[in-house]
Amino acid sequence: MNKVILITGGAGFIGSNLCEKLVEGGDTVICLDNLLTGSQKNIVHLLSRKNFTFINHDVIKPFKSKKFNKIDEIYHLASPADPNIHSPFSYLAHPFETMQVNTIGTWNMCELALKHKAKLSFSSTSEIYGDPQVSPQSENYRGNVSTTGPRSVYDEAKRFGETIVSSFVREKRLDARITRIFNTYGPRMNPLEGRAVVNFINQAIKNEPITIYGDGKQTRSFCFIDDQIEGQILAMEEGKTGEVYNMGNPDERTILEFAQMIKELSGSDSEIVFSQPLPTDDPFFRNPDISKAKKVLGWKPKFKLEDGLLATIEYFKSL
Ligand code: UDP
Repeated sequence: MNKVILITGGAGFIGSNLCEKLVEGGDTVICLDNLLTGSQKNIVHLLSRKNFTFINHDVIKPFKSKKFNKIDEIYHLASPADPNIHSPFSYLAHPFETMQVNTIGTWNMCELALKHKAKLSFSSTSEIYGDPQVSPQSENYRGNVSTTGPRSVYDEAKRFGETIVSSFVREKRLDARITRIFNTYGPRMNPLEGRAVVNFINQAIKNEPITIYGDGKQTRSFCFIDDQIEGQILAMEEGKTGEVYNMGNPDERTILEFAQMIKELSGSDSEIVFSQPLPTDDPFFRNPDISKAKKVLGWKPKFKLEDGLLATIEYFKSL
């Protein structure tokens, strides 16, 4: 049966890919976004579809709609997510909005889900593990996060967002699950963001220097967007209330290896340069333990890093 699904942050990178997938599957999708870091360009191809509605709305204010009197599912994805200090789209450029959307916005979405007896999925982040002291990180790991450092506006707000959702589950019997999204990449990433994937691909295709921060030995594990979307939907459909699921690809690489791979796959002459020190609180390791999602949801990423990167390089070349 087709459902009415509300997606906050639906004009962002992950949100717009999720909107597309659910619209194609025949569900009625309501996309809420205040376009602070999302873009209408990401959803322009969906605007003419009968089962898609875009509403410019900031979820730190309660959402009321006369048109949609029944919502079945809510994916709460809205939040700036880029950590790069030089990017106008980063959570560092929008610290107050980031704190508000993940706390007040999450609270509002929990209330809305209760009102509609809807299922909720809150998109949290691997950042709640901070600069982890164990690797890989499983859902049981409680993290190593600064409460006052520059990244805390995102990390701690997501952590409190998880607390809000868990309390609604415990105290008000809300049907909600939490996904912790690890680094995800693919077509429709914001080309003006300062993330490693975006910077490296843009630099490689222009034959400009590829800028490594620190010595490049820090690791990340990159998940292709199609895999992430499949995981998000499975967590909503098969995930149990009150549970947390890591969503990422355990294929861990050093950032230097990652830069070299992008250079090679782009056929680029770029030089790899160690341009600046590692930003404050930049995590040294990041690698998801996804055994829980594998066991409970039957999910694991399918795309190889090479294939996902080739598709992403093609997308950036086409812009
Ligand atoms: N990074 C880099 N060069 C860049 C952008 C990022 O070396 O031009 C590094 C960054 O310091 C971090 C890693 O690449 O160690 C991944 O950064 P990203 O911004 O993609 O996201 P994060 O995983 O830190 O949230």
